[in-house]
Amino acid sequence: MKMPKQNLRIPGPVSCYPEIMSALTGDMINHRGPEFKEMLYSATERLKKVFCTSNDLYILTASGTGALEASIVNVLSPGDRVLACIGGHFALRWSEMAEAHGAIVTRLEFEWGKPVEPEAVRASLRKDPSIKAVMLVHNESSTAVTNDVASIAKVVKGEFGKLLIVDAVSSLGCIPLETDAWGCDLVTTASQKGLLLPPGLSFISVSPMAWQAYNSARMPRYYFDLGLAKSYYDIGQTPFTPSLPLFYALKVALDRLLEDGLEAVFTRHAVLAQRARQGLRGLGLALLADDLCASNAVTAVKIPEGVEFGPLQNVLRKEYNVIVAGGLGKLNGKVFRIGHMGAADEAEIDDCVRAIGAALPKVGFKSRV
Ligand code: PLP
Repeated sequence: MKMPKQNLRIPGPVSCYPEIMSALTGDMINHRGPEFKEMLYSATERLKKVFCTSNDLYILTASGTGALEASIVNVLSPGDRVLACIGGHFALRWSEMAEAHGAIVTRLEFEWGKPVEPEAVRASLRKDPSIKAVMLVHNESSTAVTNDVASIAKVVKGEFGKLLIVDAVSSLGCIPLETDAWGCDLVTTASQKGLLLPPGLSFISVSPMAWQAYNSARMPRYYFDLGLAKSYYDIGQTPFTPSLPLFYALKVALDRLLEDGLEAVFTRHAVLAQRARQGLRGLGLALLADDLCASNAVTAVKIPEGVEFGPLQNVLRKEYNVIVAGGLGKLNGKVFRIGHMGAADEAEIDDCVRAIGAALPKVGFKSRV
């Protein structure tokens, strides 16, 4: 099905560069042969540069949630206590996943739209020394808040020596994340955001301390067993059939990311985010997150009085060919979200802001600007 080109401003999947889409059409190869081995090793080594890690790293054929599940079931046992830092929908869902696998979860809750506070993490870890791991979402896509992983890691690792598990699904490749320098034990991400690809691959890095935890972890696991991933990686394979088209595209995406340079990529995201925030405020709209913690990957806009998201989204799509995302969980109907990650450019951000400015009066908005 060929869809007309839209200005896809949701926070992933991102629209992809043409050379990445073209790579998907390569012929199938033997996934247990030498060409795949070469491709797997090369992609893994280059991904380590993007993760800023020399830890082991695995590529899983699954959406980001696959890597998130792997980050739980490979290091924990039923009955283990974990601290989940929660400031939005994705953190909440991940904590539910840990619970579903038998972890005893302490939820450290923050107002949605506010960042995780290192001091509160410190207080929770002091209160319950039996906590084994801390779960932290780097960039909470539902609130458009980026958490200060470096400062929180200083507490979790430096002061308490706990396992630190990071959801970097919407941050890796958009916002700096120093896996090794900050001491993140498990870092997870997905293909369809900062890594510039269509959905379908997820990625996880595993520190030596995480491997130690693996040895005693007793949660049931099979498809996402990282020990299995490791033993197959050692012979240049994945345990199960990999998405070959996405591996072809991954090669091209990594060429692009590393040729552009990570610093330049982060700067581009910062510039686009700034442009989006400024443009939206210029329309008289209020943003959910404070500038101090506002994400460079996505912006969440408060839905103004008198406006409903459904009609706004429809007008944007039908009349302006612009696709925005709604609010999730308890922010449903309260915010809408604009992605400026991956292959986004200034013209698309300006077009999106212009379209919102034109659409709002048609759906009941009375500007005070
Ligand atoms: N975590 C965050 C922060 C996300 O933004 C998303 C998806 O948007 C996920 C987890 C879930 O990833 P997936 O839908 O690829 O499974």
